Amino acid sequence: MLTVMRAPSRYVQGPNALLQLKQHIEALGNKFFVVADGFVMNMTRDLIEQAFDHQTEQLVFEEFNGQCTINEIERLKELAKQNGCDAIIGIGGGRTFDTVKGVAHFANIPVIIIPTVAATDAPCTALSVIYSDDGKFDQYMFYPKNPDAVIVDSTILAKAPVRFLVAGMGDALGTYFEARTCVNSKAMNLVAGGVSQAGFALSKLCYETLLRDGLKAKLAAENGVTVPALENVLEAATYLSGVGAENGGLAAAHSIYNGFTVLEQCEKTMHGEIVAFGTLVQLVLENSPMEEIEDVIDFCLTVGLPITLAQIGLPEFHHDQIMRVATAACAEGETIHNTLGGVTVDEVHNAILAANALGEHYLHSL
Ligand SMILES: [Zn+2]
Repeated sequence: MLTVMRAPSRYVQGPNALLQLKQHIEALGNKFFVVADGFVMNMTRDLIEQAFDHQTEQLVFEEFNGQCTINEIERLKELAKQNGCDAIIGIGGGRTFDTVKGVAHFANIPVIIIPTVAATDAPCTALSVIYSDDGKFDQYMFYPKNPDAVIVDSTILAKAPVRFLVAGMGDALGTYFEARTCVNSKAMNLVAGGVSQAGFALSKLCYETLLRDGLKAKLAAENGVTVPALENVLEAATYLSGVGAENGGLAAAHSIYNGFTVLEQCEKTMHGEIVAFGTLVQLVLENSPMEEIEDVIDFCLTVGLPITLAQIGLPEFHHDQIMRVATAACAEGETIHNTLGGVTVDEVHNAILAANALGEHYLHSL
């Protein structure tokens, strides 16, 4: 199998990065279609106009309706075309990015991503999660290329609610362990190739950055300020996690997340929070050394990521619920099947309960 490595063409990050937006994207188009939900639009529109020296003929603003559906992608694509836009900018969170990536793909124009929260690694990846009009998961859409530019303004991200940053760290926590599984089992990454040394190195750096700077970053964000540790963690949650996952591959942790989405009790728990618990489940499933499991649990306890079922929305649970989760996690095509030696639904069910028991043990020994 050939190794394959892909990434966004340009990644820019730092305090007030948005004010230099124009110089980083002007080669990508002449007229930009700017998409954000109402809240984010209010927060960033002035900054975007300022970045373009108020040459507003280069900008067309349009509000996103909040759900990434085929109809919304189609609506925005038509509007971008009618307005003569030759590039699209998405500002906000995962659903906005997923939508503008779809518009860019179908309109065949460049896409620029500007996150206002660090909750997931969606900004750098070349895929969208598409929902149906009634809000149900519909399909993953994979694109032939990654976003053309990702602009991370750490001044904005430092002021976002801290829960988003912590969830972003949870999403990033799985990256190294999932990539390691793919390397060991010689599984394919998310871009249909073998894992390169570069891809694996990014995923390892992602984990090391979290352990080294996670707490410092969280405390800085609680106070709304940027410091080097927060910059490092933002890079880990946005770039290292996204590029690391695409090129390093996914394994059990993300399938465990997909499994828990079948339970409505977990609906309010964020993606990255469940991935953190899923990482613990993966380590139990693979019987990782106790030392490593303790490092992960310590990290979760330190930054406030969940390590028990109660913490992800299941203070009480029945074994049949956990069986439903395990069954969904083991559905055909799930990345959990990258686990060396394979897994069964029963093994996953057992690992979830054992991970929960470990989590409870450490939580109560504090
Ligand atoms: Zn994820």
